[in-house]
Amino acid sequence: MLVSFIKSQDLEGAGIAGKAARRHVWVSLMSATGLYNSPPMFVGFLKEHHETFIDPPLPPRKADAIRQLGFGTNNKIFLEFEQPFWPPDCQLIEVVWEDESPLVEAGTDLQASWFRKLIVFLVLQPPERYGHVLCGFIAGKESEYMETLSDAAVLRALTDVIHKLTGNPHLAPPKKVMRSQWHSAPYTRGSYSYVAVGSSGDDIDALAQPLPEDALLQVLFAGEATHRTFYSTTHGALLSGWREADRLLSLYDTSESHQHKPRL
Ligand SMILES: Cc1cc2nc3c(=O)[nH]c(=O)nc-3n(C[C@H](O)[C@H](O)[C@H](O)COP(=O)(O)OP(=O)(O)OC[C@H]3O[C@@H](n4cnc5c(N)ncnc54)[C@H](O)[C@@H]3O)c2cc1C
Repeated sequence: MLVSFIKSQDLEGAGIAGKAARRHVWVSLMSATGLYNSPPMFVGFLKEHHETFIDPPLPPRKADAIRQLGFGTNNKIFLEFEQPFWPPDCQLIEVVWEDESPLVEAGTDLQASWFRKLIVFLVLQPPERYGHVLCGFIAGKESEYMETLSDAAVLRALTDVIHKLTGNPHLAPPKKVMRSQWHSAPYTRGSYSYVAVGSSGDDIDALAQPLPEDALLQVLFAGEATHRTFYSTTHGALLSGWREADRLLSLYDTSESHQHKPRL
């Protein structure tokens, strides 16, 4: 996610003038305001397009950070059933494969084993609102493989899993499947960042660095991938937004910025 820096004349243009323009800090998410039109800034997208999508190009240190940081995939698979096979007070169904050990490397045949990565189903509550729906989470290369399958193939594989875990081969299959496909989505290419082998917190800080480096700020960066401690998380994304809002505040109103305490 990228936060654009809006100049005071932009605020005036938007009908916020004088004192109000100085007191309001507008944090705009890319093209949301139409003031700056830019593509999304997910690290997965940037990995593929950072050399071409912006002119002038990103500085080498930021480009290196984008190349070095990891960007992984986590997807949700929702299964809707006509009737629940779980008790009414059940919140969570964990799946444990008896022949598995954390000490043994998982198999590489994704077609044969991708569904084993899905180890937990949340029960959506309350059923009066959602119906009888389970939400499974699946991460990693198995998740990316799942995205290449049809809905019917996913439904078939997970019906088999449910038959195995209940011990009831006659259980009716889910009536509907719905899932995210973050890795295939061209503007995301994954779900959230991680510190990959060969990268470090310094890459996260480099990604967070506003641009240009040697003149008045024009482009600010926020989002989970820019928070050194809480990358990957919602609270990291929130804190990074506050950080950039503080940065803007300190530019717009110096008297207030002196009293402003950093939140991190
Ligand atoms: C399956 C899954 C489970 C997760 N579970 C947890 C959890 O339990 N706890 C936790 O802390 N985190 C969890 N996360 C991670 C968390 O959701 C993310 O780290 C967080 O949402 C990232 O926030 P962000 O603001 O950086 O990006 P996003 O939340 O992706 O926000 C970016 C926003 O930008 C918008 N956008 C993109 N391009 C444009 C454009 N050109 N113009 C205008 N708008 C645009 C998008 O629509 C989106 O709303 C999970 C993620 C996934 C995928």
